[in-house]
Amino acid sequence: MPTSPLIIRQAYHGRAENTMSFQNPLVKEILGLSRRIWALHHALSLMGWDAETYMPPRGLEERSIATGELTMLAQELTLNPKLVELVDKASRLEGLNDYERGVIRVLSRSIRIAKALPPSLVGELARLGQEARGAWLEAKKRNDYSVFKPYMERIIELEREAAEHLGYEEHPYDALLDLYEEGLTTRDMDRVFSIIEPVIREVLDKVLSEGYYPQKHPLEEARYCEEDARRLNEEILRILGYPLGERGRFDVSAHPFTTGIGIDDVRITTRYEGYDFKRSLLGTIHEFGHALYELQIDKRLKTTPLSGGVSAGIHESQSRFWENMIGRSKAFTQAFHPLIKKHLGRILGDIDAEEIYRYFNTVRPSLIRTEADEVTYNLHILLRYRLEKLMIEGELKAGDLPEAWNDEMERLLGVRPKGHADGVLQDIHWSMASIGYFPTYTLGNVVAAQVWSHMSGELNIYEHVLDMDFKPIRRYLEEKVHHWGSTYAPKELLKRSFGEEINPEHFAEYLRRKYLDKKI
Ligand code: MG
Repeated sequence: MPTSPLIIRQAYHGRAENTMSFQNPLVKEILGLSRRIWALHHALSLMGWDAETYMPPRGLEERSIATGELTMLAQELTLNPKLVELVDKASRLEGLNDYERGVIRVLSRSIRIAKALPPSLVGELARLGQEARGAWLEAKKRNDYSVFKPYMERIIELEREAAEHLGYEEHPYDALLDLYEEGLTTRDMDRVFSIIEPVIREVLDKVLSEGYYPQKHPLEEARYCEEDARRLNEEILRILGYPLGERGRFDVSAHPFTTGIGIDDVRITTRYEGYDFKRSLLGTIHEFGHALYELQIDKRLKTTPLSGGVSAGIHESQSRFWENMIGRSKAFTQAFHPLIKKHLGRILGDIDAEEIYRYFNTVRPSLIRTEADEVTYNLHILLRYRLEKLMIEGELKAGDLPEAWNDEMERLLGVRPKGHADGVLQDIHWSMASIGYFPTYTLGNVVAAQVWSHMSGELNIYEHVLDMDFKPIRRYLEEKVHHWGSTYAPKELLKRSFGEEINPEHFAEYLRRKYLDKKI
């Protein structure tokens, strides 16, 4: 018997249309039960999107209560004894196809996590998350870490407790990483950083001494009209292949994001600061990358546990691929120069395509992660990764965190924050008790380069970019990554599609090719 992925792949290319993804009666019964959980998440996504875009501000209180209740309901349905029993039974079946196994893997994992954490701990984390967010905002506004310190202390305690409940083989931090990135370990991240850190350092030194990639660019200050930038972004989205209007929306929010409400309803947002137009433009391309992943998932996975992207890191690889490997390339700035000029001619003057390229690729060691360029970005993550690991090990106390932050910042990037707002308090993540999330950003950058490297072996990427023909690129991503949804765990997906697990050498190669050889 050939394994079912082959059959499914044929169906995918239209040769065996009637092949079903899910045939096993037990799996079908499980899908009947899990569909309700899917429906709740569908509603929660829409409510979340609305809260960030059009909800009147006073609606927040009731929306938060409703969101909390529905989240608990989804949790209850996940632990429904009937579902737990069927999933357990199915996990011992042999002869399931890859899609069926994927369903069982995803549900077993949700059940395991939901069972491992005591309700009292989940409840306290949720309450603390709410309060800590307020304290963090206040602390950041007053530039005073002491306001946030007691919360940070408690968050570390609870996260250490959560790690013990979840279980791990080598390092307690592994249990927290796994919540965001299935199967990712401290060992993986240590290896990634040990390979990319020296290359980043080498590239950064060269870039700074050479000066071709500027540290600052006059266009960063140039003010634009929001309506012009919106038209430009929309036109770029259409050319890249975003089905605006039919299966997507493009709105404004304080923090840009993508929501996959369903495979045929994937919405993105951007923001307009009014100056430095590359932020909004490249941010839009970034969100397009997230959206394309959700849009190209096999439609037969609709309403199942496999109908979304598989993990935070793989998702970020798709957004970073489009933002950096495509949007920040020479070919892109050359091809899109006339269009940028058409919409933003007033501030562009006679600036040529190469100058736009230099503007898109400023490189400077800075204090703020979200403003970092693609050379220094991962150093910001390395700093957070090291500190989180130390806190979870019990080696670093909440009270010593700001000093440790500043020292590490100086060591890695050669800059030292003047206050806490520009340092230890800059990110929202810790206030939300999301310890273990940051490494998925670096994983995203590393996997984006891995995809780029393998794609380069099969496609002449930048010829297509010059022609503004993005179909071959979209097709490649669909085939290798997107259409599988969550069928395979992240590492297995990489292995199947690219013949290797996480490989940071591609990122090193990418940085050198671009910033030393100036070939991209
Ligand atoms: Mg992202």
